[in-house]
Amino acid sequence: MDTKSLASLAAESDYDPNSMPVAKAREYIRSFLMPVTAIERLHIRAALGRVLAEDIRSTMNVPLDDNSAMDGYAVRFADLKADGPVTLTVIGASFAGKPFGGQAGAGHAVRIMTGGVLPSGCDTVVMQERVTVAGDRVTVPSGQQKAQNVRYAGDDIKRDAVVFARGQILRPAELGMIASLGIGEVSVYRKLRVAFFSTGDELAAIGQTLGAGQLYDSNRYTIYGMLSRLGVDAIDMGTIRDDPAAIEAAFSEASRAADVVITSGGVSVGEADFVKQILDRLGEVLFWKIAMKPGRPLAYGKIGGAHFFGLPGNPVSVMVTFYQFVQQALLLLMGGADAGSVPMLKAVCTTPIKKAPGRTEFQRGILTQEPDGQWTVRVTGDQGSGILSSMSRANCFIVLPDGQGNTPAGAMVDVQLLEGLI
Ligand code: AMP
Ligand code: MG
Repeated sequence: MDTKSLASLAAESDYDPNSMPVAKAREYIRSFLMPVTAIERLHIRAALGRVLAEDIRSTMNVPLDDNSAMDGYAVRFADLKADGPVTLTVIGASFAGKPFGGQAGAGHAVRIMTGGVLPSGCDTVVMQERVTVAGDRVTVPSGQQKAQNVRYAGDDIKRDAVVFARGQILRPAELGMIASLGIGEVSVYRKLRVAFFSTGDELAAIGQTLGAGQLYDSNRYTIYGMLSRLGVDAIDMGTIRDDPAAIEAAFSEASRAADVVITSGGVSVGEADFVKQILDRLGEVLFWKIAMKPGRPLAYGKIGGAHFFGLPGNPVSVMVTFYQFVQQALLLLMGGADAGSVPMLKAVCTTPIKKAPGRTEFQRGILTQEPDGQWTVRVTGDQGSGILSSMSRANCFIVLPDGQGNTPAGAMVDVQLLEGLI
């Protein structure tokens, strides 16, 4: 990936730091991301959540042999009749892990269990529920299909196939697939180190008694949670006072310790100026007003070798900007292939929503299934950027695009789920 200098952005004709569309900010950030390159070998279990640094190629067919998908009888389709039953002689059995060693000839059937290797000479499996058995004789009715209930060698994975490409994130299904190839160790990119701290004189740590106008620093905990879910090394650098020397020291230390530095607070109008002065000394940082709600102020840049994301202070803004800008950036820095944008679903919104055109809104929503099966969504209530309980009550974002104005009850809206299944 080629990177350009942050300063060169200012020369672009449509660059406006004071009214930056969400999509444009994402695009700019992406153009500066250089993924980690260091690699480590890990046992597949330890590789869960990590990013593959090699292609995984199959040296075998999975399954290895043609086998049965059902408990029943392996037969030769040519022996069966279209217009009536046929009685065959059972000459042996094929169990999972214990194949039938012989050869089936005309008039023969082999008892077979799910996963049992299809005996030589047979091409079709008849479910046991369909047949009648008397001693070593089995009667098969008409109406069977050739090759039914047979799973073929390589049905899941073909020999020599590139099963996973470099950049694949390893989830439970991928661990299982790699294990099914008999591979126990993989090369993955090293973990990303992400340092984070909060800024604000009003912030108190858990355990301290709150003075007038103070509040507990909750952002460090939501950020910790979001980072931990991504599987990065999260380095908590604490709460830093709004004091230039303390902030400068924190930025220097964080940028030396980590690949990415994330802060909350200190980028809003009035606060940004002195933070900006510090960051101008230490690196190259852009301050944007994003055309979105919540989460208008956002800073992005480089401090030494580290990427920097300056998130707003308000607790909901922190989470929204993390999910909309930081998460995808971290996945790319971790070496992950571009997963594209997060899926959006359509749902009927049962509450009216007031909105001014010209910015993207991420309202907190509750998506529920109605008795008739239809999915509807409603807002969680107060959408203030300080109402963190709205994030906790929500199971989705209601995403209202730039051009959209007020939304009446009953309109279709886009929603983005907060939780995935895997
Ligand atoms: P700021 O962006 O620094 O002006 O912060 C905006 C508001 O967000 C502050 O007035 C606080 O109420 C709140 N806030 C800032 N930092 C935190 C934090 N770490 N935890 C909880 N709330 C915060
Ligand atoms: Mg502040």
